[in-house]
Amino acid sequence: MANQMKTIGVLTSGGDAPGMNVAVRSVVRAGIAAGMRVLGVRRGYNGLVNGDIYEMTLRSVSDIIHRGGTILYTARCKKFKEEETMQKAIAICKEFGMDGLITIGGDGTFRGAYDLSVRGFPCVGVPATIDNDISCSDYTIGYDTAVNTIIQMVDKIRDTSQSHERCTVVEVMGRHAGWLALDAGLAVGATSIIVPEVQYNFERDILGRIHKSLQTGKKHFIIILAEGVGGLDELVERINNEAGIEARSAVLVYVQRGGSPTGRDRINASILGYKAVELLNQGIGNRVVAMQKDIVVDYDIQEALAMKKPFDVERYNIAQEINI
Ligand code: ADP
Repeated sequence: MANQMKTIGVLTSGGDAPGMNVAVRSVVRAGIAAGMRVLGVRRGYNGLVNGDIYEMTLRSVSDIIHRGGTILYTARCKKFKEEETMQKAIAICKEFGMDGLITIGGDGTFRGAYDLSVRGFPCVGVPATIDNDISCSDYTIGYDTAVNTIIQMVDKIRDTSQSHERCTVVEVMGRHAGWLALDAGLAVGATSIIVPEVQYNFERDILGRIHKSLQTGKKHFIIILAEGVGGLDELVERINNEAGIEARSAVLVYVQRGGSPTGRDRINASILGYKAVELLNQGIGNRVVAMQKDIVVDYDIQEALAMKKPFDVERYNIAQEINI
């Protein structure tokens, strides 16, 4: 690597995701290997504004490759959209001798990175969120772990659903996106998968499917509902009243955000963190690293934020056909 920067910073921001630690570790190790100083910024953009910054060493990131969460902590910093706060953050970066910054998080985090970049402070974003809702990237750090966590949880729920011959509606995370629900739903054999991207009809998509399965001898059901759709209690009540089968709800909440990252998340977080350092070290800012069909690519931040990721309707249809 050609050395363009002497000191870089790294922060994690927005919702935490398993594998953020792996990305931080990779940034620290790759930065130091390239002859740079690496500064850790605590609590996202808050740490920049408050000067909550410390020098990281090879050993500061020991023993975190297998840990969920983020050793740098994460926070939301609403004030970061204000000009005054932004200028203060840039002044603090300069005070600490920072030449560039790697920001690990979601779309909001990338907006902050864009705002800093266009004000002359180069940033590179690394996509990390369990929601997989970053348009420029097929893959986001933490998503694979979250899907696997949901699978483990729902497999346990399935045992009791089967024993009691009931229907369990499981609400999963994903914010406004249905990716987690879709992939987890496909993987657990959910009779119905309800996502914000596909308009659902209770009679057709819930009642109709339950009745069709009942007729072929199936007696217990899992329905996966994305949090972005909402209406969990009403849905459970309607199934209880209209399907002729007992229904219960299960909300998985924060277990989905925790846990040891999967192999896929560890491998990709390591590579994405490394590539982000490579860009900054070439003096290139205002970029995000991303993955397209398992290949690492990078985009201008504004271009990345404007991109749209079409929902995988084919995958949804496959689930509809075989989860019956
Ligand atoms: P995520 O990065 O997971 O999408 P958020 O949307 O909460 O999470 O964003 C994380 C942080 O990024 C915010 O708390 C804020 O500090 C910063 N941020 C979000 N939007 C903007 C924006 N438009 N301009 C500058 N900073 C932003």
